Amino acid sequence: MEKKQFQAESKRLLEMMVHSIYSQKEIFLRELISNASDAIDKIYYKALTDDSISFNQDDYYIRVEANKDKRTLTVTDTGIGMTKEEIEENLGTIAKSGSLAFKNEIEMKDGQEIIGQFGVGFYSSFMVADNVTVYTRALHSDEGYKWVSDGVDGYTIEPFDKKDVGTEIVIELKQNEDEENYDEYLEEYKLKSIIKKYSDFIRYPIKMDVTEQ
Ligand code: ADP
Ligand code: MG
Repeated sequence: MEKKQFQAESKRLLEMMVHSIYSQKEIFLRELISNASDAIDKIYYKALTDDSISFNQDDYYIRVEANKDKRTLTVTDTGIGMTKEEIEENLGTIAKSGSLAFKNEIEMKDGQEIIGQFGVGFYSSFMVADNVTVYTRALHSDEGYKWVSDGVDGYTIEPFDKKDVGTEIVIELKQNEDEENYDEYLEEYKLKSIIKKYSDFIRYPIKMDVTEQ
């Protein structure tokens, strides 16, 4: 297993996320769902020009699963997935992502309040998670990978036998402390309301599954 460090700029952004006092932490779900939708779009557009890929609408969806017992939230998509190189590039650096604007902004401002003004992306999951695991397998690849990080101490990548193409992101919620109640992200009504609020326009079905204790 390889243990790697985040690129310096990623570290800075992550640090801000991990210690965030930003009140709208729920936007992490918007970011994960929007990434899932983008990943499905990528297969969809490929299929338009590549006859070897069949795009059956029914096969493409996003699933949000909460497990109260394990205190995990899982966002699964049947999108294009990532190769090992893409994982490194997309989850280990912010050079290529839409978070770039954010990066430029934090050079100038200090601040929690600007989190809300940007699509802060994948790293926003560390506002609510103390551990994030990404299982992914790219289209046309028979190798899957598992990426794990606490958002602080770098990340590990190892091969993982994933059956289907696509990505599964498992968020281990932080413990409730002070005013923060992270448990609410395991409640069906709360998840539904966040999805309704921010992801109503997503053009793929969002399925939901909540496992009670
Ligand atoms: P942005 O979406 O603005 O590019 P993010 O931080 O949200 O920035 O995501 C970084 C990159 O990680 C994405 O551009 C994409 O390449 C990759 N990525 C994130 N989530 C997924 C996913 N579910 N499936 C495939 N690739 C993903
Ligand atoms: Mg994104």
